[in-house]
Amino acid sequence: MNITSEFLLIDDIKSSFNKYSSNVLCGIGDDSAVLSNTRNILISKDLFIENIHFKRAYYSPYEIGQKSLIVNISDIAAMGGGEDIKFLLGLAIPETITNEEIYEILEGIKNAADTYKISLIGGDLSRTKGPLILSITIMGNTDKYIKRDTARPGESLFLTGYVGNSGAGMELLQKGHLKGSLQFSHKRPKARIFEANCLSKHDIPASMIDISDGMVADLYHILKTSGFGAEIYSASIPLSYELRDAAGLDNTPDEYALYGGEDYELIFTTNKHNENFSLYDEERELYYNFYHIGKIIDEKPVLYYFDKERKYSIQPKGYTHF
Ligand code: ADP
Ligand code: MG
Repeated sequence: MNITSEFLLIDDIKSSFNKYSSNVLCGIGDDSAVLSNTRNILISKDLFIENIHFKRAYYSPYEIGQKSLIVNISDIAAMGGGEDIKFLLGLAIPETITNEEIYEILEGIKNAADTYKISLIGGDLSRTKGPLILSITIMGNTDKYIKRDTARPGESLFLTGYVGNSGAGMELLQKGHLKGSLQFSHKRPKARIFEANCLSKHDIPASMIDISDGMVADLYHILKTSGFGAEIYSASIPLSYELRDAAGLDNTPDEYALYGGEDYELIFTTNKHNENFSLYDEERELYYNFYHIGKIIDEKPVLYYFDKERKYSIQPKGYTHF
């Protein structure tokens, strides 16, 4: 990319992205963006790096762009959501990427930005001799926020949706099966920001985290930082029909649910409910379902897994992202 095409690209980015935030005094085009603020600000960054977090053999440029923003939105959701969400976009572009592919990546980012009504307020661009890198910094306004270290014994544990699809989908992608709904879950996750906003509005979660490294690994972050244990029940963990019925996988559905990463569902604790429940989002005219999977117990950080009659103590396993 030469200097002229970099300017053209920034102009195109500036004109194609919609603006949703009200407190941006100055956005793309000056040396810094200017925001006005009177509330707490959530701010977070996630890198999305070729051959570490994704492979270009499995992902279309559009999907790369879309997922790079979704995983960032998920971090805002995990804090209980936010309003007037904005992001900065850093792009390191290797020589092997065509102009057309750059525009497809941007289309994917724009799709996620429009779905979740998020504004792009700036960024940076560079050529690179290394891999494709998308570096996003995201921020949102909030009054309250929900941390990981605030789970207490007696609280129930909930999930916002199915777990395991993404990990199973990744394995199928690696085996060369590029199409299918599990693969789709892996490449096009949802960010549970509407659910998070709705839960926060009703003051439900006491502690919360999003699942990026696997349910057990991320639940352990809650347990270790809070200083308590938990038990979860195999029969209560929501598994999709696609995962139960999938052929060609190396592990059982339960194993993907426990150890597979990148579902981007939320896990939260609360003392307000102790069985499955739903909440109605008046703005979107939708119900969200929350799945009861266990509870926090007064023990050191340990996780017990009840499978039929047996009780196991389980540990996180490492997860690689592709
Ligand atoms: P500078 O040299 O001052 O850093 P740039 O040419 O990098 O300026 O950027 C000019 C403007 O375009 C800035 O407002 C910057 O935030 C914006 N911008 C640059 N790259 C991107 C990008 N990838 N996405 C969004 N905005 C960008
Ligand atoms: Mg710059």
